[in-house]
Amino acid sequence: MPKFFIKTYGCQMNERDSEQVARSLIDRGYEVAPSESEADVVLLNTCSVRDMAEQKALGKMGMLRRTAHERPEVVFGFLGCMAQARGAELLKLVPHLDLVVGTQKFHRVAEYVDQLVTKKRHREMDDPRFSIVDTADEEGSQETIREHHLRPRQATAFVSIMQGCNMHCTFCIVPRTRGGERSRTITEIVREVRELVALGVKEVTLLGQIVNLYGRHEFPKRGGKSPFVQLLEAVHEVEGLLRLRFTSPHPIGFRDDLIGAFRELPKLCEHVHLPMQSGSDRILKAMHRAYTAESYLRLVEQLRIARPNIAVTTDIIVGFPGETDDDYARTRALVERVQFDNAFVFRYSARRETPAAEMSQQVDEKVKEARNHDLLTVVDASARRAGERLVGQAVEILCEGRSKTNAARLSGRTRGNKIVVFEGDESDVGQLVNLGIVHSTGFSLTGMKGSTAASCQFAAMGELQPPIAANS
Ligand code: SF4
Repeated sequence: MPKFFIKTYGCQMNERDSEQVARSLIDRGYEVAPSESEADVVLLNTCSVRDMAEQKALGKMGMLRRTAHERPEVVFGFLGCMAQARGAELLKLVPHLDLVVGTQKFHRVAEYVDQLVTKKRHREMDDPRFSIVDTADEEGSQETIREHHLRPRQATAFVSIMQGCNMHCTFCIVPRTRGGERSRTITEIVREVRELVALGVKEVTLLGQIVNLYGRHEFPKRGGKSPFVQLLEAVHEVEGLLRLRFTSPHPIGFRDDLIGAFRELPKLCEHVHLPMQSGSDRILKAMHRAYTAESYLRLVEQLRIARPNIAVTTDIIVGFPGETDDDYARTRALVERVQFDNAFVFRYSARRETPAAEMSQQVDEKVKEARNHDLLTVVDASARRAGERLVGQAVEILCEGRSKTNAARLSGRTRGNKIVVFEGDESDVGQLVNLGIVHSTGFSLTGMKGSTAASCQFAAMGELQPPIAANS
């Protein structure tokens, strides 16, 4: 049978979409190739959020030109956001490209791949019409990302609950690449979660570009609760599910009902990723973000009251058009004030056909670089402090498998979404494991099985040797 290889760029939505494509190919009898060089079908699922992400995917596909020359029967395709944004233009940029499929057509990929594999095997591809481009809208496409391809003993899974975004932040290309907001029904989502739990999944992360505004155009409020909170409550009811997360929300979608959910739903984990973007009201307004620095800070405080010890992470853009030293100083001050558990800091990247790309006063790259570097030092310091606060504590992790940096160890995440590595055995994979935290690098934690909080405090003070080197 033909073998396929999918490389995914960008966010968790893309990971989830790639998983759906993999599953649909496997259902047709295709096999997973361990690397692109052994594949008969190479698919790159692309991201358009920053220019660098597009350049990486284009560069990667360009490097595959030699494979295309040596093995002309191999099928090459671009999927996802860049495919949606650029469409047939990609066929001119990359002559060996066979397939371009946009964000509402992932469920058609297997059928298109089949057609291309057959034609290439019969050497019918000299005719350029055999390339396939499909970037059309499709009604109901939000219901098509619903099947999974789980590893043995996989305990965590992403569940796509909606597609698209209507917010039109002025820097963002997503409304163009993913379309308007369309949500699945609560019944369908709960059915998918039940099936996952029956297969051994213990933690699900609900996914959407603007996840906490789920269903606002389709479903009514009930009992003062938004469709998203109704969904959280319904998923929380699923027997056997132990942990629940969601990403990525928008600060304006946190009303009292959602803040209350952190008080009332114990399976909802103590972590919220809350994109801040800027600490300057002037820049937030130019970004079309409908909150202020003060209301953002108030929201963080409300969440910390509702769920003490909640981990808060964020996204921040530096160098947005017109950002002055004073605007940047306000961002820096807010980051210091909030003390995030971690943050992704991005230099503003102009995306074509977005309002911000047309704005005057684009910021010089060197200034962006300096602000990026400076803000990372602030973020790293607060991330390190957040890790160090856990040293000496007993935590529960959900073991996901071997550590990516050291296959001799296992790794998992705390409820606050921090990675912990530890020495364990295969029976721990897919299970909740209680650990004592004995060391923090700031970016990952080292845990020890069977430790009480008291014993891991001794270990942290050097009176017991942690069994694991700290840098894994
Ligand atoms: S809410 Fe998020 S996905 Fe939607 S336009 Fe703004 S940044 Fe883009």
